[in-house]
Amino acid sequence: MEFVSNPCIRCGKERIKGTERIISVSSAKAKLTTYICPDKSCQKIVDAQLAAKEERRLAFTQRRNQYPPRKKAA
Ligand SMILES: [Zn+2]
Repeated sequence: MEFVSNPCIRCGKERIKGTERIISVSSAKAKLTTYICPDKSCQKIVDAQLAAKEERRLAFTQRRNQYPPRKKAA
């Protein structure tokens, strides 16, 4: 197994293995491992940032799919 460095985007500490879950992707099973920062308070901030980012991305994608842009967003 090769070692992949996965430093925290915020503090740069090497991440530790967090939760593992099995997801089904088109009838195939895949293992999804989440790596988290060893610093709990740091990980909290990173989580919040990621959630906000993901939310924006989803909102953007949904808007684009539902309504073709007619005018430039303010
Ligand atoms: Zn960190």
